[in-house]
Amino acid sequence: MTVPGADVVLLRHGDIGVKSAHVQAAMEGHLAERVAAMLDARGVEGRVEHEWGRLFVRTDEPEGATDAVTDVFGVHTASPARAVPARMDAITDALAATARTVYDGGTFAVEARRTGDHDFTSHDVGHEGGDAIWRAVSDDVDPVVDLDDPDHRFFVEVRDEEAFVFVEKRDGPGGFPVGTQAPLVALISGGIDSPVAGWQAMRRGAPIVPLYLDLGAYGGVDHRERAFATIDTLAQYVPTQDMRPRVVQVGEYVDRLVDAIDSTRMLSYRRFMYRIAEHVADTVDAAGIVTGEALGQKSSQTVRNLNAVDRATRVPIHRPLLTRDKQEIIAAARRIGTYNDATIDAGCQRVAPDKPATRATVAAVEAAEPADLFEWAADAAASVEVVERSRTEGSS
Ligand code: ATP
Ligand code: MG
Repeated sequence: MTVPGADVVLLRHGDIGVKSAHVQAAMEGHLAERVAAMLDARGVEGRVEHEWGRLFVRTDEPEGATDAVTDVFGVHTASPARAVPARMDAITDALAATARTVYDGGTFAVEARRTGDHDFTSHDVGHEGGDAIWRAVSDDVDPVVDLDDPDHRFFVEVRDEEAFVFVEKRDGPGGFPVGTQAPLVALISGGIDSPVAGWQAMRRGAPIVPLYLDLGAYGGVDHRERAFATIDTLAQYVPTQDMRPRVVQVGEYVDRLVDAIDSTRMLSYRRFMYRIAEHVADTVDAAGIVTGEALGQKSSQTVRNLNAVDRATRVPIHRPLLTRDKQEIIAAARRIGTYNDATIDAGCQRVAPDKPATRATVAAVEAAEPADLFEWAADAAASVEVVERSRTEGSS
């Protein structure tokens, strides 16, 4: 529940804080820009202020602003707060007003922190604040202090001239602001895994260029729309990025692969796929490829098979989900919002042979595959199409 009279949102970052001072300052500046862009994209009025180690959004819409900023990569937690002058009477008044709104019984604690010059300590704030809360609610409930595991936490952060009163720390995605890493081409199939993988890459600062391979007759009717829907959802986390899907038609090549190869077919298909991604990476100056592959999830994703397929490209392949169980990935997809989009069966199942190889060697895969497989990939990639979507075009 938001504090009554909330007029500011406090933002905390996580890993940015382990950087050197110089890098931290630059990343905080970057984060401030991303936060402002997100507020703008979500239609929330707010002014972003940046002090060392902390960002603030001054706003008349604390709920909307908190919802928006907790979708910004780099934001670890956010608290809608009420700003008051850094005087004891103002702080205790704000705590009392807050308690009257949010306190419905149980135990409580005041957690106070302070930086700057004041004629009171953080201990004083805890003590006098606790008294004020007690007086405010003791007619209605029986307030009990519990400093270890309280039902209600009242936070006070005193910073120089101002004090901030709040009662919650809402989780953001954490990570780093997008754009603090080089871009990656993300192979997005629209299944459950690959959108989560793309989101994880963005969360660590790498913008993604979404690439969808259109399987033609091998994809279901909704296969393409499903992929686009997941990309639209991902785009909402990064309003300044160009998230228009790149699409390459591969149906006729898959036909040829199905005719030409048996047990190692999926591996050659993946090698073909990575080669296409490599071409796209070159055109957008991306420094890697990201996929939703997870160790052992499919026959093409065994340790040996991943080794065989990786040799197809000089561009590194990043697999954020490598060690994740499906249930964990599903939970992540639900949190991110891509799970519902990703419900129909993926087309590539039908491409798979009945008895896929699980321990393929590079030599065996190469021996079975058409000599000009990588030329097919170059040809296919040459007609990459950029699909315009109403919500996915970047604004900067
Ligand atoms: P997902 O893994 O996203 O749930 P899936 O099960 O259809 O989709 P897999 O067969 O597991 O895909 O493929 C492994 C990875 O290869 C995917 O996570 C994705 O990164 C990539 N990929 C597969 N099919 C496509 C496609 N049609 N377009 C783009 N990338 C794809
Ligand atoms: Mg998968």
